[in-house]
Amino acid sequence: MLIRPEHQGDAALLAHELEHTRQWWWLAAPTALLAGVLALVPALADWRPWLGALAAFGLVLQGVHYLLLPPYRRWSEIRAYRITLAHAAPVHFERTLRFAAHALAHHYWLRLSEDEARRLLLAQSRTHR
Ligand SMILES: [Zn+2]
Repeated sequence: MLIRPEHQGDAALLAHELEHTRQWWWLAAPTALLAGVLALVPALADWRPWLGALAAFGLVLQGVHYLLLPPYRRWSEIRAYRITLAHAAPVHFERTLRFAAHALAHHYWLRLSEDEARRLLLAQSRTHR
């Protein structure tokens, strides 16, 4: 995870990116674990190179989902921006919500209007506030 120097110390951004890292782990870890367990099965010894490939595939699974599947990208970013909003001080909540809705509507190829993005962010965040 890389954060530009001008954004170092931005706790909300860090939490947003950590959520994406968590999402990456949720796809990578089960795939790597499955490959590891299967590699221990003596009957599958000849398949070990393919199991290594399966583990490697797990490492790129989140990226593939994110790039190719707009519903996944939408889910991923709504979750991450909900965390960004949770870090906003009450006095900055509305400004942060406007920023997040604008970003979701214009920077992620999600075909969302700002109003729809705003509704999704609030629908999600209310359950966790
Ligand atoms: Zn994000």
